[in-house]
Amino acid sequence: MEGYPPGKGTCPIVEMSKKYWNNNIKNMMPYVPGFQPELKDNLIKLNTNENPYPPSPKVIEAIKVSTGDLLRFYPKSDWEDLRNAISEVYSCNLKQVFCGNGSDEVLSLIFRCFTNFGDSVLFTYPTYSLYETLAEISGIDYSYVETKDDFSIDFDVIKNTDYKLAFIANPNAPTGRIEPLSFIKDFAASFKGLVIIDEAYIDFSDSPDGFTSLNLINDYSNIIVLRTFSKSYSLCGMRVGYAFANEDLISAMMIAKDSYNLDLLAQAGAKAAVLDQDWMKNNAQKIINTRKETQQKLISMGFEVIPSQANFLFATHPDLNIKTVYNELIKNNIYVRYFNKPRIANYLRISIGTDNQMGILLGKLKYICDSIVR
Ligand SMILES: *Cc1c(COP(=O)(O)O)cnc(C)c1O
Repeated sequence: MEGYPPGKGTCPIVEMSKKYWNNNIKNMMPYVPGFQPELKDNLIKLNTNENPYPPSPKVIEAIKVSTGDLLRFYPKSDWEDLRNAISEVYSCNLKQVFCGNGSDEVLSLIFRCFTNFGDSVLFTYPTYSLYETLAEISGIDYSYVETKDDFSIDFDVIKNTDYKLAFIANPNAPTGRIEPLSFIKDFAASFKGLVIIDEAYIDFSDSPDGFTSLNLINDYSNIIVLRTFSKSYSLCGMRVGYAFANEDLISAMMIAKDSYNLDLLAQAGAKAAVLDQDWMKNNAQKIINTRKETQQKLISMGFEVIPSQANFLFATHPDLNIKTVYNELIKNNIYVRYFNKPRIANYLRISIGTDNQMGILLGKLKYICDSIVR
């Protein structure tokens, strides 16, 4: 499977008898997360858009304070303290906030709450492939609408279409492209179903406040905005995502969620993280600076780089076989992401690491450019 380096095993599902499986699970291809190699000193891991900087020390402190004897008790099922902190920081009503075990869980709940058998949902292509996986698990039909040649979303084509849900990652993955707020507004106004704006990467944009759809939830009853603590808050391992929407939509998700979907430590850690905005913004700014520098250097080596407003770059090279480059990098302990899929099979998605890591990556790429040609 793509995402697994050569010789490191394949998806184990294919050998099963599947005798008792439901048809949705039986017939689908499983989601393949980016490969998680053993962490060692000389490893440069730029394949899953993790933050190269640590979470706020206040997060670690809050988790320490919550552990121990307190673990005997169930956590708050409505994440009261965390929810309060999020609604304060993002200036919205408490009841417009939802929290999940990663934004992946929130996405899963969106399918559970807002689709019925026979419904059909809309994705743009390319985008975050988990959307498709979740549709297949739910047995929900989906259509992909191609992005334009430059990977920007073709709003003229998706406007006024009749689907139950439309998913727009903004900035998009794996391209890093961002769409202006005015396009999102027009689209949501024209669309009968729910519009899910996945803002997993918005903190890495040049203007999170200018691009976010967050303020639209008051005027549009069909918008859900998704955020995560994984990327900008450096907390992939903690699994906390959150969402904003009007109270009506949030109430449905409150009914469908697991009673205790966020554990005690995650609630405490996430609360401390959201209250330390300076820490998050400072790291995001460092990553933005490194992204800009890396982009310039890649371009000077002949790469074509999609303009990114995320913590990764999506790049191709007219003279290189990108799959070969991907494998060469693995041999050098550098992991980036490669997708063997239509339109993007000659691109690498490179997560932004520290300046030092990017320096090593660029050095290797220079060497590869000079030594292997298609
Ligand atoms: C990483 C990512 C997520 C998932 O975030 P988690 O909160 O870690 O589940 C959601 N959407 C997109 C587009 C992502 O890239």
